[in-house]
Amino acid sequence: MKVLLASRNAKKLAELRRILAPEVPGAEVLGLDDVERYDEVPESGATFADNALLKAREGFAHSGLLTVADDSGLTVAALNGMPGVLSARWSGRHGDDDANLRLVLAQLSDTPDDRLGAAFVCAAALVGADGEIVVEASMRGRLVREPRGHNGFGYDPIFVADGFELTNGELDPAKKDAISHRGKAMRALARHLAENEGAL
Ligand code: IMP
Repeated sequence: MKVLLASRNAKKLAELRRILAPEVPGAEVLGLDDVERYDEVPESGATFADNALLKAREGFAHSGLLTVADDSGLTVAALNGMPGVLSARWSGRHGDDDANLRLVLAQLSDTPDDRLGAAFVCAAALVGADGEIVVEASMRGRLVREPRGHNGFGYDPIFVADGFELTNGELDPAKKDAISHRGKAMRALARHLAENEGAL
């Protein structure tokens, strides 16, 4: 079975291959660099699920392959759920992780410590000839005011998952995968693929 992951992110591809391998033996995961190039539409959806579906539908329409796509971000209760779908470009520069987390910390400077609850959320969509499904998963925790650790990416250095003292930036990557929003959502899709033998 061939599955397209509508992403050029090598880390996400490696992660999905790791997750699918035990669930769907023989599955071959291709990335956008492995299929004929197409112009990707901007992530304009209002929700993580909208954006994941947008990318998965687009991948399927262009490749004809069963396509998986995900969209994720940080939601902070004290900021009314933001940065949310704007997580990657919160500071105005797409993918500037340091500027993004500094801006969130500045916005929370007057917020008491007991209101620093936050969660990472991931929506993962699967689109094929017979239909589509979306699953959403989260990792709950709290923010800390000083970044710690160099593992992971994005807001990992200022996020401590429930039940942990280390930030995600300090956590061993395999430990993070086991509890992460993306890990949970992707494992749910992988199970669906396994149960339906690759059909949707
Ligand atoms: P996307 O899903 O690749 O569009 O990423 C959205 C953005 O959310 C990333 O650029 C990060 O800023 C943030 N984000 C999503 N997942 C994580 C995570 O596991 N750790 C830290 N930041 C994350």
